[in-house]
Formats: sequence, C-alpha cells, structure tokens
Amino acid sequence: MADLADLAQAEQERLAATSAPYRKPAAPAATEFCLNCGAPVPAGKRWCGVECRDDWEYRETLRYKQLGG
Ligand SMILES: [Zn+2]
Repeated sequence: MADLADLAQAEQERLAATSAPYRKPAAPAATEFCLNCGAPVPAGKRWCGVECRDDWEYRETLRYKQLGG
C-alpha cells in the first residue's frame, strides 16, 4: 500500500508538471521582513500589506515570464 505522503508528493509533482507554464512564481519562505520593501513583519508573514504583496507578485511574474521566454 502506497504511503499517503508518497501519493501527495506524486500529485504535487503531477500538478507542477502540468501547470508549470502558467503557475505564479513560488514565493520564498517568510523571513520576518517584507519581501517587497524590507519592513519588519510578524513571523509567518512575507509582506507588510497587500500593496507590497501585489507589487512583489507583479514584478516576480514579469521576471518569471522573462526567464521562461
Ligand atoms: Zn512592504
């Protein structure tokens, strides 16, 4: 019987493979600083607000498209 974790990983890999050209860029782990402006944020948060998150995602998406061609 397949382990549940193995099934989950296989499914994740399948999704990653099928949706790779369209998915949003993966955000890095939270560092307790806003990824966009560097302001301190609560643990587990990656941005200080939605404006920074949207700004960051927009620029990451541009960068991702450039890298992907
Ligand atoms: Zn910010």
